[in-house]
Amino acid sequence: MQPAHHDIVICGTGLAGLATALGLARGLAHGGLRPCLLGSKRDIPRLELGRHHPRVYAISPPAQQFLKRLGVWGLLDASRIAKVESMQVVGDAGGSVALHGWQRMQAELAWIVESDALEIALRQALKMFEVEWIEEPFAQLARGRDSATVITASGRTLPAQLVIGADGAHSAVRQAAGIASREHAYGQLGLVANLIADAPHLDTARQWFDHGDILALLPMPDGATHLPGTAQHTQVSMVWSMEEARARDLLALPHQAQAQRLQALLAGMTGNAPGAFCLHSDILSFPLTRLDSDMIAAHGQTGVALVGDAAHRVHPLAGQGLNLALGDVEQLIHVLREKPPLVPCGDASVLRRYRRLRAQPVWAMRTATDSLQRLFASDLPAVVWGRNLGMQCVEHLPWLKQRLIAAASRN
Ligand SMILES: Cc1cc2nc3c(=O)[nH]c(=O)nc-3n(C[C@H](O)[C@H](O)[C@H](O)COP(=O)(O)OP(=O)(O)OC[C@H]3O[C@@H](n4cnc5c(N)ncnc54)[C@H](O)[C@@H]3O)c2cc1C
Repeated sequence: MQPAHHDIVICGTGLAGLATALGLARGLAHGGLRPCLLGSKRDIPRLELGRHHPRVYAISPPAQQFLKRLGVWGLLDASRIAKVESMQVVGDAGGSVALHGWQRMQAELAWIVESDALEIALRQALKMFEVEWIEEPFAQLARGRDSATVITASGRTLPAQLVIGADGAHSAVRQAAGIASREHAYGQLGLVANLIADAPHLDTARQWFDHGDILALLPMPDGATHLPGTAQHTQVSMVWSMEEARARDLLALPHQAQAQRLQALLAGMTGNAPGAFCLHSDILSFPLTRLDSDMIAAHGQTGVALVGDAAHRVHPLAGQGLNLALGDVEQLIHVLREKPPLVPCGDASVLRRYRRLRAQPVWAMRTATDSLQRLFASDLPAVVWGRNLGMQCVEHLPWLKQRLIAAASRN
């Protein structure tokens, strides 16, 4: 039997892979392209009224626009989305900066969306376009001049002009294609949980920097509003980049002790300024690394392109990893749409253009997040003084605040 031929095989079925498949299937690139998805279809628990999964993303305005163009934003339940109108960043020696959307004529700076809700919406939209989804892992890649062939874990072969690696930070596609990458471990875990707050969040994302630790509390939709007989409460999502050993000590505690310890740690970090918090979910943890790669492997008329965490990973202090991933997907689709009709989609010229378009935004985000992480990790008194003074200066410079908001609104 002849193997089925697809123009593009997308390996990895996380948010970046699903968005790529949907963008191609919707004809945002070229009507005639036949994509196929390769990877597991995990069971997503049903979204419960009034309860939110702790894995959330801050979606930037350009990423929201792209999700709208994909037809996905409208599928999300608006009552499960929280808007971020302001940001407050607090340093470790009196520095603080407040940014408001209105300072740049924007109603919102970002939206907080649950990961599962986004995945459900993407899958729902994909169903409409009958994209083939092969529920197997990618295993190997064989590359010839006219086609690349993906080999699945069961040995199935899938020839294609273009292979897209959307298979996360440990990308097997990246390794198989020989795409060079560099990784740096921050020695921190990202701890993620939902908290109940005793004061309203006022649609404000708050962030504290304290000698390497970075705590973000993001506004969430009010909990239990739809459940009869239950009190409404304010929820926030916690993303705490914590030194690994301390994070592991916390994670090792039984739930009750963990909740008490976390409450004390939060009080210490925030000085109780935004009120007290109590744990309202399990604590999830993610090792934090920075990764960059060459993003493509071009070989004549067939090639491999990486999107999302397979291509780059940044510190989550700015909440931009998925936004960058969606920026990759959008630009890859853009170059596929713009290419001359007879040029194959895996052609070296097409892929190089994709890499060029992504180089600056990815570099800028990596440099900004990495520099901030390093700046606040230092205990040198002059650096501590300087960084807090810097924050005070920014606080009094409206034009600089506008630039910061603009920079945070680019993917
Ligand atoms: C603590 C924390 C907070 C964050 N907060 C934000 C935020 O607020 N905003 C934001 O924009 N970003 C945020 N990020 C970043 C964001 O989580 C990632 O950038 C994003 O999820 C990457 O998506 P992806 O689809 O590229 O990768 P993944 O989500 O890792 O998906 C990869 C997929 O590939 C599959 N796969 C792996 N190997 C294979 C194989 N061999 N074959 C087939 N499939 C395979 C996996 O099963 C998975 O489904 C945060 C990250 C962390 C750690």
